[in-house]
Amino acid sequence: MHELSIAQHIVELVRQHVNPADAKNVAAIRLKVGAVAGVAADSLEFSFHAITADTPLKNTRLEIEHIPFRIECLKCGVVSENETGIVVCDTCGSPDAKVLSGAELDMTEIEILEAVQAAT
Ligand SMILES: [Zn+2]
Repeated sequence: MHELSIAQHIVELVRQHVNPADAKNVAAIRLKVGAVAGVAADSLEFSFHAITADTPLKNTRLEIEHIPFRIECLKCGVVSENETGIVVCDTCGSPDAKVLSGAELDMTEIEILEAVQAAT
């Protein structure tokens, strides 16, 4: 399963970037997943929670930001979005367009809770 190997890769990246003592304090991992990245967000979340269930990351949230497939028409200049990855301008129908986003799969942030007392 594709999402499972991505989830394992995310866990591996967290291991590389986070001090083992802080692993249990990782509150959230933020990702950007493009509409045509070929990743099902709910499946990725499920896989992540399945493989971290008995680890210090068991309470970590996976926050997935959906990035639409976005193209800029080179003919009329209009930027349009779709979920299918079709490179055809919404406005004029031209296939002559530049892909701006939608294929990304990036880990953007690891949020670690500081082991501090309530800041009152
Ligand atoms: Zn156009």
